Amino acid sequence: MVWPVFLLHGTTGLANKTPSIVTIEPTTSGQEVTVEKLLLLVDDEPYILKALQRLFHRSDYKVLTAKCGYQALDIIRDHPVAVLISDYNMPNITGAELLSVAKTLRPDMYTIVLSGNSDQDAVIQSINEGGASKFISKPWDENELHRVVDDAYANWSKQHYALDTPGLLKQASFVDALNTTLKGPYTHDYAIIYMQLADYQNVREVIGTGEERDLLNRILEQRSGESTQEAVMGLMDDGRLCVFLKIPESESHERCIAALLNSLPPSVTYNTHYFRTAFNSGYSVSAPSRRDANQLIKDALTAMHHATASGDSKAIKFKRAMQLKSTEQITLNNQLHQALENNEFSLYYQPKINLADQSLCGAEALLRWSNATLGSVSPDVFIPLAEHSPLINEIGDWVIRHAASQWVEVIPTESTTARVSVNVSPIQLQDPRFISRLVSALSVSGVNPTQLEIELTESTALHDLDSSLPLLRNIRDLGVKISIDDFGTGFSSLNYLSRLPVDIMKIDRSFVLPMHESTSNRQLVKNLINMGQDLGLEVVAEGVENAEQLATLAEFGCDVIQGFYYSRPLPLAEFIEFLSGYTPSQQAVPANAPFDGYRLTG
Ligand code: C2E
Ligand code: CA
Ligand code: CA
Repeated sequence: MVWPVFLLHGTTGLANKTPSIVTIEPTTSGQEVTVEKLLLLVDDEPYILKALQRLFHRSDYKVLTAKCGYQALDIIRDHPVAVLISDYNMPNITGAELLSVAKTLRPDMYTIVLSGNSDQDAVIQSINEGGASKFISKPWDENELHRVVDDAYANWSKQHYALDTPGLLKQASFVDALNTTLKGPYTHDYAIIYMQLADYQNVREVIGTGEERDLLNRILEQRSGESTQEAVMGLMDDGRLCVFLKIPESESHERCIAALLNSLPPSVTYNTHYFRTAFNSGYSVSAPSRRDANQLIKDALTAMHHATASGDSKAIKFKRAMQLKSTEQITLNNQLHQALENNEFSLYYQPKINLADQSLCGAEALLRWSNATLGSVSPDVFIPLAEHSPLINEIGDWVIRHAASQWVEVIPTESTTARVSVNVSPIQLQDPRFISRLVSALSVSGVNPTQLEIELTESTALHDLDSSLPLLRNIRDLGVKISIDDFGTGFSSLNYLSRLPVDIMKIDRSFVLPMHESTSNRQLVKNLINMGQDLGLEVVAEGVENAEQLATLAEFGCDVIQGFYYSRPLPLAEFIEFLSGYTPSQQAVPANAPFDGYRLTG
């Protein structure tokens, strides 16, 4: 069985902390390394350390060394050491003292004392007191020492791995491994994914208690081997899976997570039962300022509960709104339900600029909510909340009506091709009234349907082609344009995109933002643009903030640009002002123009 569990943390964190004292053996070559078997050697005699190191050099242990008890304790505190071999007679603190403190830090660590016969009585006492697990006298027998360490490690593994599946860690070890990984210099993001079987309740009814683990084991065994992702998996105390995944530079979180989920088999048979193995999963992502393993795991769990509630098989990212205390949720919810009635919503407009001739080719309408008690609340907070109730349909309808009628006000000439786009939640598409309400908004406002565009994010709803195809065709038959928003962040498959009746593809800002960081980031954006254009789509890049990004996108032949570089989203009156001051010819953008969110408002 191929079970790719990968070594996640580099050695630099430790090296940074105590550069001159700790030496770390290079890990096994390549990416595919099992979770580290950490072996710590402690002796004040350099030649003994060397000899011990040589002894374990060729084995798959990761060997750490310390020249005194204090250094050893630092290492033990920061690293999940499995086996410790320590000299007894050392300056500063003795072997016995080291072992007793070490045991409180890592109770499950196996400790071997090396000493001359003269210390034997003291060592035996230490063993009796529970500090040391084993005594080996100097000079040691190499074979014996090796065997003792192997046995100790096998024992340790039993305590740390949840199953026979090598690498599926128990919760405590998983948390440890994540903490260690995030402690070093911050070089990569990690996604922390909490997941449970979508049919969890059914599963529990069918199989006996305690068997869930075996079922999980079966699923993991059948994970397709081609995945080269660096992932560490944990079986949490609640019986669910948690994974942390290294996000390579130039990759999006969403794509990595999708690849992970896709590597799992769609179904398994277990004890003659057939199980669908769809998972509900939620995830959080580390950041230089977000490195607390417990918090990240907690956030992923919160997101997983949301995924379960919405029945979404796509992994859902943790958002701050999910974490609101229940009292805050209730206030927010209550206020939100009155917001329409109290007229607290408004629309802001963010211009979109055609790169070829610098003309203003449209604007995205973005919803704003300003409430007397709560102040102004981000749509990232209240939209997900509204999506949990039928309210999203009412709010969505309000947005379409207002955007359509305001656009007629803003762009009075029928002949213009400039479009206003509105964001439509996948939940709105499931409302049978959607089309009739859209038709009504078009006729009441009098806007030319070709001047309206709806932005749809990729979602499982869209993937169900049987129901989404007729609906999208209906929308398009009205003349309304359809845009796929946040492209690249979901389970984007070109195959599926090519079958959907869409006109525009919006590349998510998470791809545009890191373009300057590497060639591969730029190449990715270039590929996205080419793929979209090959499908005959107009390609919009969003989140363009500076001239460098603009120049690169122009070089790649991107069609339309949206972002702070041209303008932030503006309230209606300011947007109208922006329009009146905007002349394409004057606005040819110098490649080195400084970033200024309001550059073109004057
Ligand atoms: P989105 O559809 O991806 O909208 C673009 C978001 O990017 C907006 O955030 C916009 O202010 C921001 N943005 C624009 N240019 C830049 C830039 O250069 N740099 C950066 N860093 N950000 C930029 P906003 O307005 O906070 O909206 C957040 C999300 O809320 C939207 O993401 C959309 O998913 C949702 N949303 C907003 N209005 C509506 C709505 O009327 N209905 C629905 N269903 N969702 C909405
Ligand atoms: Ca959008
Ligand atoms: Ca977006």
